[in-house]
Amino acid sequence: MRPIFSYDAVVVGAGPGGSTAARTLAGAGVKTLLVEKRQEIGAAVRCGEVVGPRSVMARFIDIDESWVYQDIDELWLFPPGGRRLTAHFPRCGMVVDRKRFDKALAIEAARTGADVWTKARVTGLTRTPEGIRVHIRHLGEDRTVSARVVVGADGVEFLVVRWAGIRTALGLARVFSAVQYPLTGVEGPSHTLRFYFGNTVAPGGYLWIFPKTGGTANVGLCLSPALQKGRRAVDYLDAFVARHFPASSSVEMVMGGIPVGGPLKTLVSDGVVLVGDAGHQVNPLSAGGIVNAMETGVMAGEVIVEALKRNDVSAQRLEAYDRRWNDRAGNLYRLHARLRRMYYKLSDADLDRLGDRLEEQVRGRNPDDLYTFGFAASVVRSMAWMIPKFRFMVGKET
Ligand SMILES: Cc1cc2nc3c(=O)[nH]c(=O)nc-3n(C[C@H](O)[C@H](O)[C@H](O)COP(=O)(O)OP(=O)(O)OC[C@H]3O[C@@H](n4cnc5c(N)ncnc54)[C@H](O)[C@@H]3O)c2cc1C
Repeated sequence: MRPIFSYDAVVVGAGPGGSTAARTLAGAGVKTLLVEKRQEIGAAVRCGEVVGPRSVMARFIDIDESWVYQDIDELWLFPPGGRRLTAHFPRCGMVVDRKRFDKALAIEAARTGADVWTKARVTGLTRTPEGIRVHIRHLGEDRTVSARVVVGADGVEFLVVRWAGIRTALGLARVFSAVQYPLTGVEGPSHTLRFYFGNTVAPGGYLWIFPKTGGTANVGLCLSPALQKGRRAVDYLDAFVARHFPASSSVEMVMGGIPVGGPLKTLVSDGVVLVGDAGHQVNPLSAGGIVNAMETGVMAGEVIVEALKRNDVSAQRLEAYDRRWNDRAGNLYRLHARLRRMYYKLSDADLDRLGDRLEEQVRGRNPDDLYTFGFAASVVRSMAWMIPKFRFMVGKET
């Protein structure tokens, strides 16, 4: 066993959440170690690679055109009946090269002063009176690092959350199974995201086509394992690809889970804070989590810096992070998670009617309006008004 290394903060996982947390901590003078089990940060990509607009991304990193594939101006939504709904939202997001993007975020953390270990898998945490011991298998050797605070940014591995004793739940209805092919030979507009809905396409979720460059696109889907009726996610995807892109080809397949059940009750315990997917901080409707991971990385970093200054990293002090997250998105996501559970109950005919209704509700809106309590509540009302089984939720349409 190698000697003990000593840091103020150890961040487990160099995805967008971990790298952003490490950069925030190191930037404030906190002695920080960022630990990534993979040899190469960003690879293999498990993502559709769609992020927020330039204005949002610029809050976290200088935009480098080398990792931008496309800016997005339009969304096409296809309910099961096949009608196309169009939402024109100029520059509402970007498709990026996630491998380069994740690496760029980690380089920023290193440039700011964080030490970065790759091929370093965290295998456990032990609490001691002085802080936390982080056990790491690094380049084939066991090392122990002492830390005052640990940031769990290990994504859907969900190890830190368990080691820290934070309550978590992951039933079938709370996760999406996702699968994707980066496909060549996909025709279509280059600044448009396409989404397909329906119980035969992606039950409980949706299928996406996200354009990259030169006729390539990420074609994937996410669905609820509770609704997949004996067919695997890849079976649904293969059926769609065979029908829509019979001449396409792919040399890669991406698979993963997405925690869409809504936020955990608490994201902290003594000396431990969770960010990004590790804290289930994914939008339960869109299943997107990259911007949230970065946002929570900054938020957690700032709260930890303050806690370290006061020499108090108790759960009680760190709960400031819970409060900031709940105000920012956590409470809204609880409503979104409820909408998702309603969505699971919709038939294809319901989805067609909801699509028509949403088209009216979205028309003329700014994309930011769609992420508000007001909009989510209006969708709940629409569903309740249109679909008899939900009518108990409202008295009459307002
Ligand atoms: C198929 C698919 C498509 C998706 N498409 C999109 C999309 O288009 N847009 C979007 O916003 N979101 C998308 N998501 C979700 C998005 O990928 C995640 O929300 C996002 O990556 C979360 O970032 P993170 O930093 O929390 O975790 P991650 O990016 O998962 O990073 C966690 C890191 O921790 C490392 N790690 C895990 N365990 C250990 C350990 N024990 N020791 C050391 N390191 C460890 C992992 O190797 C990984 O690098 C998609 C997800 C899937 C599965």
